[in-house]
Amino acid sequence: MRIAMISEHASPLAALGGVDAGGQNVHVAALSEALARRGHHVTVYTRRDATELPARVRVGQRLEVVHVDAGPARHVPKDQLLPYMGQLAAGVAADWARRPPDVVHGHFWMSGLAALDAARRADAGHRVPVLQTFHALGTVKRRHQGAEDTSPPERTWLEPGVGRSADGIIATCPDEVLELTAMGIDAAKISTAPCGVDLDFFAPDGPADARRRRHRVLSVGRLVPRKGVDLVIRALPHLQAAGFDDVELLIVGGGGNALALDPDPEVRRLLDLATRLGVANHVSLHGQVPRDAMPGIFRSADAVVCAPWYEPFGIVPLEAMACGVPVVAAAVGGLQDTVVDHGTGLHVPPRDPAAIAAALAMLLADKALRTRLGSAGEQRARTLYSWDRVAAQTEKAYLAAIAGTTAGAVSMEGAAL
Ligand code: UDP
Repeated sequence: MRIAMISEHASPLAALGGVDAGGQNVHVAALSEALARRGHHVTVYTRRDATELPARVRVGQRLEVVHVDAGPARHVPKDQLLPYMGQLAAGVAADWARRPPDVVHGHFWMSGLAALDAARRADAGHRVPVLQTFHALGTVKRRHQGAEDTSPPERTWLEPGVGRSADGIIATCPDEVLELTAMGIDAAKISTAPCGVDLDFFAPDGPADARRRRHRVLSVGRLVPRKGVDLVIRALPHLQAAGFDDVELLIVGGGGNALALDPDPEVRRLLDLATRLGVANHVSLHGQVPRDAMPGIFRSADAVVCAPWYEPFGIVPLEAMACGVPVVAAAVGGLQDTVVDHGTGLHVPPRDPAAIAAALAMLLADKALRTRLGSAGEQRARTLYSWDRVAAQTEKAYLAAIAGTTAGAVSMEGAAL
């Protein structure tokens, strides 16, 4: 199969941990690689966000990344990219003139718009079916962020429109299916394929980072308020009150170097909070960490805390589990499925620092519990979340969409007769 992926802001080649570079970049890169391993030809289209980027980058035998000119050739926050989606679609459709794909898969709502538009413009000799993975939904974002949501207002109607127009929707977890049907999208065209984890890379065996204190608690992710890193800092005084004094909270993520003299506002907010609560000596901000260093950091932790307000899926808990580390997870979105309460980690209610502290106290006090939850997590990651398994599930959705459009074409021909 020839597969076109569109990922307008999240290039598979980007560095991770900045405000707009995280799970979607990992997802698109790893899914594309896994599909290429299955023998498919995959082209990932992303927006050119730097002048020096080559037009095409061959990543593997059957995988390439194409940088399409659409808007300024510099970083533009993703919420400001809507005006350039027409240009992106035109660039993609022009590239298809050489060789049209069998299927196009949009990632994030704006790429969905570009995918539908490119499919309309394409002169492929057949209709190119459009699959869509939203990664995040405007309805959920607005519910949690209210006036802080910087999405363009058009998202309110364009995103459900993408859902209605696409041939198939690939949701990443059951919670997302509920949200999609609540948006009015036909459940019959929604299939589910989770995000995955690179199990050769994230594994319990291998070098671990050095710790600074007896216990290490880890938070990993883009430094944006909705990730709830402040809640983990707020848990530290509770943990101290429970007798856990020798604990380091290591925070990984954030644009560039979080230790720079003029850090970004979220870093400053977190550092100020730690100082105000008297726990600054227990908090280290590591800034953005390259992918290669991540497994060693996971292995160095007694527990990883994921405390977002909401989470479409969340790849970090899978990476922690694959490394054999228990996860304290807010019971929201995809975390409800990946992390099994008292099985591979502990669930806590969202936005509840005292509950995070209680869960951490339980884990830090009991090495046997940590080992049991950690190895169950590794097993779960290996059984359910390999990218090869995810690619096989995704391939099924592609084949169903191709069969559906072909059947549609036949029945339309029949109707014309
Ligand atoms: N990540 C990284 N370096 C960093 C911060 C994050 O490699 O400094 C990676 C992290 O390991 C994970 C991804 O970025 O693979 C974040 O994905 P997740 O789905 O958890 O969150 P999202 O960014 O999609 O909200």
